[in-house]
Amino acid sequence: KNSVWTSDNIVKSPYKEVDIPNRILTEHIWENLERWPDKVAIVCSLTDRAITYHQLYKYSKTFGAQLRNKFQITDGDIVCVMMNNLPEYAPVTLGTIEAGAILTTVNPTYTPYEVHKQLLLSNPKVLVGVPKTVPILKEALKLAKKQIPIISCDNKSGIPLGTVSFQELIEDNHVNFETLKEVNLNFQDVILLPYSSGTTGLPKGVELTNRNIVANCVQQDDKETRHYDDTTSINQDSVLAVLPFYHIYGLSIVMLHKLTAGCKLVTLPKFQPDNFIAALEKFDISLLCAAPPLVLFLGTYPAVKSKHLKSVKRVTCGAAPLPKPDVEKLLAKGEHMQMLQVYGLTETSPLVSTLTAGSENYTSAGKPIPNTELKIVNSDGQNIGANEVGELFIRGPQVMKGYRDNYEATKNSITEDGWFKSGDLASIDEDGSLKIADRLKELIKVKGYQVPPAELESIIKEHPAVLDAGVVGVPDKHTGEKPKAFVVLKEGYRIESNDIANFVAERVTEYKRLKEIMFLDGLPKNPSGKLLRRVLKEKYC
Ligand code: AMP
Repeated sequence: KNSVWTSDNIVKSPYKEVDIPNRILTEHIWENLERWPDKVAIVCSLTDRAITYHQLYKYSKTFGAQLRNKFQITDGDIVCVMMNNLPEYAPVTLGTIEAGAILTTVNPTYTPYEVHKQLLLSNPKVLVGVPKTVPILKEALKLAKKQIPIISCDNKSGIPLGTVSFQELIEDNHVNFETLKEVNLNFQDVILLPYSSGTTGLPKGVELTNRNIVANCVQQDDKETRHYDDTTSINQDSVLAVLPFYHIYGLSIVMLHKLTAGCKLVTLPKFQPDNFIAALEKFDISLLCAAPPLVLFLGTYPAVKSKHLKSVKRVTCGAAPLPKPDVEKLLAKGEHMQMLQVYGLTETSPLVSTLTAGSENYTSAGKPIPNTELKIVNSDGQNIGANEVGELFIRGPQVMKGYRDNYEATKNSITEDGWFKSGDLASIDEDGSLKIADRLKELIKVKGYQVPPAELESIIKEHPAVLDAGVVGVPDKHTGEKPKAFVVLKEGYRIESNDIANFVAERVTEYKRLKEIMFLDGLPKNPSGKLLRRVLKEKYC
């Protein structure tokens, strides 16, 4: 099906408009509950710990009530979760929404320094972790000079000191559910607050409303664009949840949408080749949601054999550019699989476009999903036509409300008539197929994860010997890109690049670490003092 180009160069979705139900996300998930109450909703691939759909309902309601009763959570408060992909992530997320609160997600590999920054920005009332992340949360609380209660999940080896057990909260037989009746959550209210740096600067809270997420779920249910099987009978799809739930792709597409569709989610707490391969076979995985490094791994890792991919019907891939040779290597191990590139952003809940079954145009990011319009804008602000490269603008019900407490950044990213400026350079062909060409924005993506240059620059500048710093992304075969820093030292100081690398490494998670460092006498700036990262790239990379 071909998208429609309008006379003013707007590309409309080729798929039939969908109605967006006016209900809260949890109601949307519970709507189908009686069809599959005893079906496993989410199971841990390592321990087989499973939660059925009925249990998910019960635990979410109980957790929501406990948040209000025991932690004084009220409408619009923030609950912050820092844990790897475990079954408990689902009731924590849905329970937070049941409580009328907003969930903010933190990367479980973050350092105390990174966590404390997000705590200061989001100001949560409750933290949820696991024994491994509880010490990091505690350190972060010290740095942020805050005292916030911590709930701990999956406490196999004992409940961490000073925390409340999630299990005890949801197994409590004397919960007062009346408080849930006080929740006054509207369709337009914010329910999720993931962080993204957007087109420029430091990470910002992305306000995603109920409507955004419910819309993006129903937009993915279209019979031509959906990635799971038909649900007229009970859905038999098993989805491997290896992409982290803290990122919007894992949270919204893999977890929330697949729960609305009645799929079985199989969580992998940490990517390890053996465990990953075992999970594929043991749980007859039919849908694999991936990012490019995983496609590369599947195609090239010798221990991944055709037999492991037998049950996989579809592989979706997004979050960063997908090299065609990597797709070909993967398909060589299983021709029966459909490889579907998807495109989206945290700010668009996230899905914007997808390839559909049968397409072999692997380098395309597909066509806009229902109710979604695209346009390509040149540097003069004009809408341009087919096959011309410019900035991609997106309009649809999945576009975020805005950046939290940041009117300026919101105003710069969403036009008055509702177009979201993606910061990506792209083109759209005559048929409406989208091709991402490059990134206009300064964001670096390592293995599909965000590495905002401004964040690394501000850390480098905290070093006593540093006068100024600029960071850019350089291509890397394995990770897509890697961060390279340009550092100007204060007069009289002499330090080695290792000093800078270690200084940064102590403060950031592994994928954000600097891989190359170069000392310069000065950085290229425009007359108003803005760093010209493009010049750094062109001159030194
Ligand atoms: P995030 O908000 O972390 O999901 O990052 C969104 C960004 O990831 C987009 O603006 C793109 O730069 C990049 N991205 C997402 N999907 C794709 C894709 N299919 N191809 C190329 N880049 C992508």
